[in-house]
Amino acid sequence: MSKVLDPNHVRAQFPILTREVNGKPLVYLDHAASAQKPVPVIEAQREYLMHYHSNVHRGVHALSQQATDAFEHARTIVQRHIGAASSSEIIWMAGATDGINLVAQAWGRENISKGDVILITEMEHHANIVPWQMLAEERGAHVEAVGVLDDGTLDLQDFQEKLKVNPKLVAFTHISNTLGTINDAKQLTAWAQAAGAKVLIDGSQAVPHAAVDVQDLGCDFYVFSGHKSYGPTGIGVLYGRQSLLESMRPWKGGGEMIDVVSIRNGTTYAGLPHKFEAGTPHISGAIGLGVALTWLNGLGVESVMDHETVLAAQARHGLRKLEGMRFIGTAPESAGVVSFVVDGVHPYDIGTLLDSQGVAVRTGHHCTQPLMERFAVSGTVRASFGAYNTLQEVDTFVAATERAVNMLRA
Ligand code: PLP
Repeated sequence: MSKVLDPNHVRAQFPILTREVNGKPLVYLDHAASAQKPVPVIEAQREYLMHYHSNVHRGVHALSQQATDAFEHARTIVQRHIGAASSSEIIWMAGATDGINLVAQAWGRENISKGDVILITEMEHHANIVPWQMLAEERGAHVEAVGVLDDGTLDLQDFQEKLKVNPKLVAFTHISNTLGTINDAKQLTAWAQAAGAKVLIDGSQAVPHAAVDVQDLGCDFYVFSGHKSYGPTGIGVLYGRQSLLESMRPWKGGGEMIDVVSIRNGTTYAGLPHKFEAGTPHISGAIGLGVALTWLNGLGVESVMDHETVLAAQARHGLRKLEGMRFIGTAPESAGVVSFVVDGVHPYDIGTLLDSQGVAVRTGHHCTQPLMERFAVSGTVRASFGAYNTLQEVDTFVAATERAVNMLRA
């Protein structure tokens, strides 16, 4: 049994949540786009910038050593947090998008050939679609997508059917940012690998809400962004199985990723993980992300997930009463995301009126245009919850939505 989370205790660590927006207390329900930051994360970055800022790995001086220690310690925190076998398998990236692009460029260009299939799903974020389309175009390969059922569950029959062509790579999201659907990542990985594919999981929406163990999942690559997990922007992680990473050529060249550089004899590369980390990294970002994951662990990620599930259920319960309400994504296994459209009312107009009442939600396609096409909508209103949201905030949001819809229909 996970311990029950007290959101008021959590909130006290988020200075931004005390502010007002349009004269009303801020109700921040846009976690899926980016999480707010707790004091320890803000302080860790400040501490680095105030007291030991220096470049990493290059200096013998005290500041550089202190920065390097903190930077590499953060890598170890990430390794433990996602259950990787070694910190060499943790590559610092600018975000999930960057990680997927690295795999597409460094692994994809060497392993995807003419006629090959890359299998994704209809519920992917554009970050897990476009890099594969670009790669496929370059290599003469095809991108195929597994369908989504009416309730927002992945169509498993279609998944198995599409594996019959033996795709080289299967890339899918662990949790959908638009539907909230939680995919059975372990099962999908096992099926895909049995068909001979390498597997990349987009964990952007999973790491902030669920326990992740990459060895248990058995995947080949796993990516996530720091900023959705209470960490800084501009930092993210690519996990790759060591043997695979070792077999891959680096993608970006420059400082940090080399062993010896000679104009005459050419260049040899550093070992993992530095081989994929050209240039000066986002040092304060990495340190901040390490602190964010430690902080999240302190809350207990299962408790966070349970709390967010209660919030989402209460939101659905309240919204369901509105005439013309249609939820997009009602899968039995889902996380704290509520997406909806209301008959005859544009999502953007609802979002604008909610903002005037201090409620921050996201409207639009959420970088999942194929999913919008699948559900024949131009966009949705999406409320997404974090550890700091309360049931009172959910009630405020539901009442504000009702007012907005009534005003727009009047
Ligand atoms: N994948 C999913 C499921 C997301 O929700 C997002 C961001 O919304 C991304 C990938 C891209 O993340 P980033 O823009 O931080 O690289």
